[in-house]
Amino acid sequence: WEWCHEIPKIELHAHLNGSIRDSTLLELAKVLGEKGVIVFEDVAHVIMKNGRSLPECFKLFDLYHILTTDHETVARITKEVVEDFAAENVVYLELRTTPKKNEAKGMTKQSYMKAVIDGLRAVDTVDVALANSDSSTDYCLEPSPINDTQGRIKRKKIYVRLLLSIDRRETTASAMETVDLAMKLKDYGVVGIDLSGNPVVGECQTFIPALKHAKELGLPLTLHCAEIPNRKEVQAMLGIHPERIGHACFIEEEEWRRIKSAKIPIEICLTSNVRTERFHSINDHHFVDLYSSKHPVVLCTDDCGLFSTTLSNEYYLVASTFGLDKGQMFQLARSAIEFVFADNGVKQALRSIFEAAESNAI
Ligand code: 5GP
Repeated sequence: WEWCHEIPKIELHAHLNGSIRDSTLLELAKVLGEKGVIVFEDVAHVIMKNGRSLPECFKLFDLYHILTTDHETVARITKEVVEDFAAENVVYLELRTTPKKNEAKGMTKQSYMKAVIDGLRAVDTVDVALANSDSSTDYCLEPSPINDTQGRIKRKKIYVRLLLSIDRRETTASAMETVDLAMKLKDYGVVGIDLSGNPVVGECQTFIPALKHAKELGLPLTLHCAEIPNRKEVQAMLGIHPERIGHACFIEEEEWRRIKSAKIPIEICLTSNVRTERFHSINDHHFVDLYSSKHPVVLCTDDCGLFSTTLSNEYYLVASTFGLDKGQMFQLARSAIEFVFADNGVKQALRSIFEAAESNAI
């Protein structure tokens, strides 16, 4: 486990509100409990419960959103989530979140995103490389050398980019608004669009126009795909040529052929998939077939708070369940560089980080 913690890693599928620390959620719940907005004991019980079904998870997200509906809290959780990923040697994080409107709090989708960006800027325990809004180059708040003479990481540095999520419950107009906001925030590190939300809710004709709009604007797409069996929807999704897909648990052979011939990278969320009962156990997970057939895959956490996992743990699970050795695990981590939505400058920087770490790691 220690080794999986030490190596540099890339996280491409992490939902902001699913990655909140339990301790922060409990603290927020306590404050709202004191104000009489919620009953703390009921909420604490739900937060601390282990092992949840898919519908229970989506109920819990509604609760999370009650706890996190003000700008300061959004900024705080963003800061903490980035610090937590950096602490386990994630060197590039693509953090996704659904911009939310909340009239009672004076929150618009844009002000929600401003709070997220404020949170990124508030990180002070590690160096954060954000996209620079003044030019196309990256800047680092404190561009100190990250390795000491033995090649050990001295002060951690993490590249952070953002994906704006469209929730399947949204109207087409609301989804379009998110796409337009993503374009507006490109200089602030927004690099693409995600489609997520409860997979039993919503119809593809509602969100496909917004996804096509994003494509036309040149925004890369990653889609939650086949979390439940829905062949018609999978076909519609593949028709818009997403750059990556998440989960891909229930895909028929013909669609697998399309995905494999187009080499669409799959974001693999092992713990999430097993916890939400899409697979009986990790041994049954399709990761192993994809990995063996050399299809592009990237290990991700999905919701590390909700599922009590870390990216290091996901790497450890793969190594211990499927018997991959250090060389294979390091290569698996490094291969994710090619699937990030950030520009070539960032990819080049990531290649250097992995190159520097390789001799110590293997
Ligand atoms: P947020 O976008 O509020 O920062 O993060 C939580 C949201 O991400 C949830 O409300 C849900 O829309 C989405 N989400 C998180 N985990 C999953 C998942 O496993 N599957 C799907 N389809 N959506 C998810």
